[in-house]
Order: sequence, then C-alpha cells, then structure tokens
Amino acid sequence: MCNLCDPSGLSRRGLFAAGVGALALTAAASGASAQPARSAETPDAAYARLMEGNARYVSGKMNERDFSAGRAARAQGQAPFAAILGCADSRIAPELAFDQGPGELFVVRVAGNFVTPDGLGSLEYGAAVLGTKVIMVLGHTSCGAIGATIGALQKGNTLPGHIAGLVTAMKPGIEAVVKTPGPDLEQRCVVANVQANMRRLQTEKPILGDMVAAGKLKVVGAYYDLATGKVVPV
Ligand SMILES: [Zn+2]
Repeated sequence: MCNLCDPSGLSRRGLFAAGVGALALTAAASGASAQPARSAETPDAAYARLMEGNARYVSGKMNERDFSAGRAARAQGQAPFAAILGCADSRIAPELAFDQGPGELFVVRVAGNFVTPDGLGSLEYGAAVLGTKVIMVLGHTSCGAIGATIGALQKGNTLPGHIAGLVTAMKPGIEAVVKTPGPDLEQRCVVANVQANMRRLQTEKPILGDMVAAGKLKVVGAYYDLATGKVVPV
C-alpha cells in the first residue's frame, strides 16, 4: 500500500493542501525507526545507480533478490532514490530495466511518457516528500503512442475515444520534428518528446523547479532501446 492510498493518512488533496513540510512529517511519522534506508543520497549518485543497474540488466548479470527480505521494513515506509516517468508499454518494466528491488523506484507511467497534472503531482510527492533524488523521463524505441501521434499529425485524423487526448498532449513536443524532413522520424520524435517533458519538469513551479535550482534534484531524459535493453541518455 502506498502512502498516497494509506487510509490512516490524508487524502492526496489534503496532503498537498497541508504543505510540503507537513507532508514530510506525515511520511516520517508513518515510518517510525524501521523505514528502509535510501540507496542513494545525491542526484549524481542516484543517476549513477540507475545506469549501473541498467548495465547489469543489459549484460544479463542482474542482482539476485529475495523479495521477502525487507518486506517488514517496507511496510513501515518507503525511501525510493529515483522516480521514472515512463511509457505504459508492456515491454519496459523500470524495476527490471534498472535492476532495482521493491521500494527503490517511484514510477509514473502513461502511454507516451508525458507530464499530466496527476503525474506531475505524483512526481512532486515523490521528490518533496519521499525524497527521490533524480527523475528520469524514459521514452523508448518503437513507441506506439509516438507513432500514433505522428500519424494523426501527418494525416490530420482524429483517434477514437480518449486516445485522442494522448495526441493532443504530445503534439506540442514533437510537432516541429514531424514537419522536419529526414530519416528516423519516429526516433527523432521519441527523443524530442522526452526532452520536452524533461524541460518542463526541470522548470515546473513551485516544487520541482525549485528543487532542481537548489541542487537537491536532477531531472534527466533517456530512451530505452527495445532491441538491446540499453537505456540511452538524450
Ligand atoms: Zn510507448
């Protein structure tokens, strides 16, 4: 059960209305003294830990895990060192791709890995309350949401149901690339989409932008190569 859903705590609306300082106290109080320790305490260390985990994943030398170990501590609280804003694509599981165990990553996923209001609130909670040191916007090769957005922009068609909302949301970040001729259009859009959302998170007020400016948080971008499993910075 996550802190946001904890019936013994406040609702998310109430949590944010209470202010970040009060939130931190709420999170700490629920953890008592048995909370898990954070695996990385600086943005650079957190980023390095992610990339080292991905290197193990790519080489097939992932750490052996006993998922029951630490379960009692995790029931008392969480101290994830990194947040991932990733695509909903079934082929990319952040905990596997970065070789991390439960409690290590705070993951927000939506098809097209773009910032939504609720996703932003979740990432703010992860950084300001839970203490994540790095946020990675993680796109991937052959992204269906990117392909659909390119198709809709090129043909001017409207996708059915709420899928159309994905196109509307991703359009600003990739529209200029779609209008630029050249090879590898889809991959160029994957990168542009990551960069647009990375830039937004880096400057988003009042929480994330201030934490980035203070050096307490790093927002980075990358894409996951489906063929190799490698996470490539952009
Ligand atoms: Zn995707």
